[in-house]
Amino acid sequence: MTKGAVPEQLTHLGAFEISFEMLKLAQKNQKNNIFLNAGRGNPNWINTKARLAFNRLVEFGIKDSLRTINEHDMAGYTQLRGIAQRFEAFLDPEENRIDEFLVDALSYCRLELHLTPDALVKELVDGAIGNNYPVPSRVLSNTEIILNRYLEKALYGGAQLANHTQIFPTEGGTAAIVYLFNSLKYNHLIKPGDKIAINTPIFTPYLQIPELQEYDLVEVLLNSDEKNHWNISADEIDKLSDPSIKALFIVNPSNPGSRAFSLSALTEIEKIITKNPALMIITDDVYGTFAKDFQSVYAVVPRNTILVYSFSKLYGATGWRLGLIALRKDNIFDAMLKKLPETERQELDTRYEIITKHPRKLPFIERLAADSRSVGLYHTSGLSTPQQIMEVLFSLTHLVMRDREDAYFTACENLVALRYEDLHQALKIQPDESPENAKYYSLINIYHLAETRYDADFRHYLEANFDHLDFLVNLAQKNGVVLMDGMGFGAGDGTLRISQANLPTEDYYLIGKQILELLGEYHADYQKTLH
Ligand SMILES: *Cc1c(COP(=O)(O)O)cnc(C)c1O
Repeated sequence: MTKGAVPEQLTHLGAFEISFEMLKLAQKNQKNNIFLNAGRGNPNWINTKARLAFNRLVEFGIKDSLRTINEHDMAGYTQLRGIAQRFEAFLDPEENRIDEFLVDALSYCRLELHLTPDALVKELVDGAIGNNYPVPSRVLSNTEIILNRYLEKALYGGAQLANHTQIFPTEGGTAAIVYLFNSLKYNHLIKPGDKIAINTPIFTPYLQIPELQEYDLVEVLLNSDEKNHWNISADEIDKLSDPSIKALFIVNPSNPGSRAFSLSALTEIEKIITKNPALMIITDDVYGTFAKDFQSVYAVVPRNTILVYSFSKLYGATGWRLGLIALRKDNIFDAMLKKLPETERQELDTRYEIITKHPRKLPFIERLAADSRSVGLYHTSGLSTPQQIMEVLFSLTHLVMRDREDAYFTACENLVALRYEDLHQALKIQPDESPENAKYYSLINIYHLAETRYDADFRHYLEANFDHLDFLVNLAQKNGVVLMDGMGFGAGDGTLRISQANLPTEDYYLIGKQILELLGEYHADYQKTLH
């Protein structure tokens, strides 16, 4: 085995950058294997229904716009009066499955959400065409109601919060996180030296945001580990009862552990809030729908929690950049703004008085929208309207199921689960079938595998002689398989993250076999050292 296979410069890079370097190695791998990249979380499936429905909105919108101006390639605006009726006349639900969905979606919005048909259709159609700035800038009106229902149905596990929640759609979960951290900072809700808790292992960017690093935040890690199936224990959650811990950032279900907070962990969180009532929680629930019977922390302690969601993974929509921030109308963030010292309040008056006569009444969620455009450009802030409408259409595909199971959700869950089973079968590792396992990623510990497949001495040999990246680099260079270093996410030494999202299903068994094959080669080298 090539000792020191790890190029020196790799050790300084983040997990994503290491993975990129490894791609280059894997493409010209020594065994001439087909190159398999299971490093990234980008799904290799898409939702078709909402996308086709989007097209229908555009087609109808153009037709309706031609009623006011029709010259060369120029059309005018759609007209509010009678637009819902014209749209229904345009649709052909008997012949076209997508039109049938749109008719059903409109009837859902009318009957269940009590939305006004003309206003709703105009918002959808103009939004899809994109002929106006987002107005209101934070979120379109009907859009907010529909997105609220989606979040409630998909993530709250029965808690009814749709009518109490405000939404700010953003350019993916990525922008949501950036906006949140910036606004918490500008508004003095997070201060230099504050203690911030995170559940580890976690999506690396959370550990690397320089704006946060400048703040010299003290990180308190709530660890979960392999022995505990990456579940977070009550003892770890109990660390949060210390009131000097100001905020908790979580990814739930976690990335890379792919583990949802269990019911008992949620109960612990609820108890903690009675001991540390000012604890600010940010929960990123992008993988929520992949876990069985999921319930967001937002549903349990809504006043303390900001929810981040993204349509990227479930709907295969990373290129669209579709995310959102949700925050309860009555929340501790607004309450804490009112309690800031007078000097800080005056400073914030100056910051926001260019956009409102009553800066002290500006809620945190509006500050997020304003800050996202450096305050001054608040009036042209907001997610592009086609993006907002795409979020609405994805949401409606789920909402129209009413009490029925959403076959699309099940298909996505089953797909990652099948790949997970194949991988574990090839690796001869017991799969974890607990409902909290979202199965979007697997974490495989090479040292653990070495011990269970061979023995503890071999494990010690590996640990003592090889850098933790060695196996990963060899797997790319020799076998052409690219995985991600779990270490970079704060998982233990020798842990590899395998994404069940981005390769054809038949490849997962192969990946498992390649891992065992390479481990076998290390073992053969090890045996030579014994003589
Ligand atoms: C993939 C992922 C997202 C989605 O981010 P987008 O910017 O919406 O694509 C958010 N959070 C975590 C933890 C993720 O892994």
